[in-house]
Amino acid sequence: MMSTQAASSRPLPEFRNQAFTDFSRPENRKAMEAALAHVRSELGREYELWIAGARHKTGDFLDSVNPSHYSEIVGRHHKATHELARRAIEDAYAYFPEWSRTPASSRVELALRVAEILKKRKLDFDAWLVFEAGKTWPEADADVSEAIDFCEYYARQMHRMSAPPGVVQMPGERDEMVYLPLGAGVIIPPWNFPLAILAGMSIAALVAGNTIVIKPSSETPTIAQKFAEVLLEAGFPARSFSLCTGSGSVVGDLLVEHPKTRFVSFTGSRDVGLRINELAAKPRKGQIWIKRVVAEMGGKDAIIVDREADLDAAALGVAQSAYGYQGQKCSACSRAIVDQAVYDEFLDKLKPRVEALKVGPAEDPANDMGPVISASARKTISEYIEAGKNEGRLIAGGADAAPGGYYLEPTVIADVDSKARIFQEEIFGPVLAVTKARDFDHALELANDTEYGLTGAVYTRNREKIRRAKDRFFVGNLYINRKCTGAMVGAHPFGGFNMSGTDSKAGGPDYLLQFLQAKSIAEKL
Ligand code: NAP
Repeated sequence: MMSTQAASSRPLPEFRNQAFTDFSRPENRKAMEAALAHVRSELGREYELWIAGARHKTGDFLDSVNPSHYSEIVGRHHKATHELARRAIEDAYAYFPEWSRTPASSRVELALRVAEILKKRKLDFDAWLVFEAGKTWPEADADVSEAIDFCEYYARQMHRMSAPPGVVQMPGERDEMVYLPLGAGVIIPPWNFPLAILAGMSIAALVAGNTIVIKPSSETPTIAQKFAEVLLEAGFPARSFSLCTGSGSVVGDLLVEHPKTRFVSFTGSRDVGLRINELAAKPRKGQIWIKRVVAEMGGKDAIIVDREADLDAAALGVAQSAYGYQGQKCSACSRAIVDQAVYDEFLDKLKPRVEALKVGPAEDPANDMGPVISASARKTISEYIEAGKNEGRLIAGGADAAPGGYYLEPTVIADVDSKARIFQEEIFGPVLAVTKARDFDHALELANDTEYGLTGAVYTRNREKIRRAKDRFFVGNLYINRKCTGAMVGAHPFGGFNMSGTDSKAGGPDYLLQFLQAKSIAEKL
């Protein structure tokens, strides 16, 4: 299993982020409309499972719906049974020795080919994200761009790690260290970046030489299916991955607990992540390793607005961070912590911005916000809004928006106490709690008063306060004088502290280490 040693022969150009599509250009708008029409004509199709190198039907369907128009079915998916999930992981284990011996250069080429295919079909993928995830055009395009970036970036990382820098040479020895893949892993992504996170975790594991079972989110199985088709088209071997569509609560435990599972790469909520971590920690009969768990989880992200801030920039940054993709980003701003000296002025600037946001079907580019993902998400978020009305002062929103889809108004609740539920719990919807701070140090204290630690931002012109924030704002991704969403692969390695997860830093220079183990070899000369 020395597969990772063979470096790619082809020199790779420097990594560059994929450009976002400029939808203000008429030709791009036209092309996107054509992609939407094309994808619309494919809605409602039936999809089989892809397990152990073959297609499977079970007749037990998972229907994914368009959250903008819940009467519309996006895809009908055969759901995996326990038996199929078991086969998926056991076949991944059986095929691992072969796949892990594939030269790293070949795996790198395959990852790059996936990026090429995604680039060619970018607008089609954008359209699938509009229909299945309820993303507006720019949000969908950012998701697909990030998926491309992950493929390009991890391909380069594997290229580099397949020829690691030398170790210290002992006299009379030849000393080296090489990276080996881990084994068969389970990839469990969330629905909110249904392509980028799915593609990122999957490609990282595969390019490192592991075999995988992908358990996609039940909200976005069609996008996962489309990505699986790209993997096959790019040339990934039929048995290098399985797509095990089905409810996490039905097949999740089995995949995590199976003794042949070597690692689990999860992104999702805190509760599910902690459960996976706990189940994976217990060795099962026949298991000869400690399972590795990478768990990237929720956030309760704050933006601090200082008395020395540019308040217009701060109001814009807070609104973008709180309501982009309807607040359904782990990095979304759900708490604005504002210095008392500028509190009222800031709210006066924020309120009209929020009220101007247009909510409606994601496929209509006139809308700034689409729907939330599901009926149950809308119900949970609405309950938080009702609780919030008693925990603070409603400034904007607070109700359902358009009919026919899962729409909610962008909501601001001010004067919220730091112990209130809407200040402490992840809501994962378009709801912002605003809290008054006595001064900058108090604001930092409030920002850190949470069990999460994913993203955060500070708006201030004062260098000394920026220094203090860099030092004391305890988050994995800190932003100064800009929004707290929109991490870019390569520039902003992503992952959080505390209950936000294992800080794996997706899109960072060391990410592939999660999927590799190092072997030291000393040969006496
Ligand atoms: P979720 O409910 O935790 O689900 C995530 C994934 O876990 C889904 O594929 C789900 O499948 C699966 N799952 C559910 N129960 C399982 C079990 N017992 N065993 C194994 N897998 C199981 O999260 P979500 O609603 O999809 O995503 C939103 C959450 O993700 C938020 O908390 C957000 O902050 C977090 N997130 C974090 C990051 C980050 O980088 N830190 C990025 C994006 C999102 P089913 O769909 O079939 O239930």
